[in-house]
Amino acid sequence: MAVVAEVMAANAKYVAEFGDKGQLALPPARRFAILTCMDARLDPAKYAGLAEGDAHVIRNAGGRATDDAIRSLVISHKLLGTVEWFVVHHTNCGMELFSDEVMGSLLDDNLATASFDGKTWSNPHHGGGCADGHFIKWQTIRTQEESVIQDVRRIREHPLVPRGIPIYGYVYDVKTGRLEEMKKATEAGRAA
Ligand SMILES: [Zn+2]
Repeated sequence: MAVVAEVMAANAKYVAEFGDKGQLALPPARRFAILTCMDARLDPAKYAGLAEGDAHVIRNAGGRATDDAIRSLVISHKLLGTVEWFVVHHTNCGMELFSDEVMGSLLDDNLATASFDGKTWSNPHHGGGCADGHFIKWQTIRTQEESVIQDVRRIREHPLVPRGIPIYGYVYDVKTGRLEEMKKATEAGRAA
C-alpha cells in the first residue's frame, strides 16, 4: 500500500505540471528507438536525453532482441516512423549471474525470491515450485560485448527489418553512466 500511495502522490504532482504534453503527436518526434535492459539503475530518458514524445524505449530483462522486442521494433518503424535503433546493454547486468539450468532448478523448487551470495543462488523456502521454468529460454548473458553483437546481428538479419535502418550497439557503465560503443556491434548493424 505504501508504494501505491507514493506512486499516486508522484502522479498527482506530474499531472499538476503536465503542461502542453497532451498535444504531443503519437509517432516519436526524434524518430529513433532504444532497446535496453529493465535494470532499475538505467534511466534511458536521462542517459540518452529524452523528453516525452521523443523516442521509443523497449525494455526487457537484459535488453535482449527477443521475438517480442523485435515485434515492437518492427511496429516502431513500420507504423511509427523510427529510422535509427540502439541496443544498449550494461555492465553488472543480472542476466550474467545465472544460467537457464540454475533458473529452471530454482523455480522447480520454489517460486519465492531467491538470494544470491555473490556466487550461488539459493531458495529461502522449499516446495510449491513449478517445472515450467525448465522450458523457457531465459536469454542470459555471458559477456556484454558478445550479447550486444548477437542482438544487433539478430535484428539486422531479421526479414522484417529494412536494411536501411542503422542499428548501434552500446554498453552502459553503471559506475559512471557512460555509454560505450561496441564497435563490432555497430559495424554488424550498419545500414546497407
Ligand atoms: Zn540488466
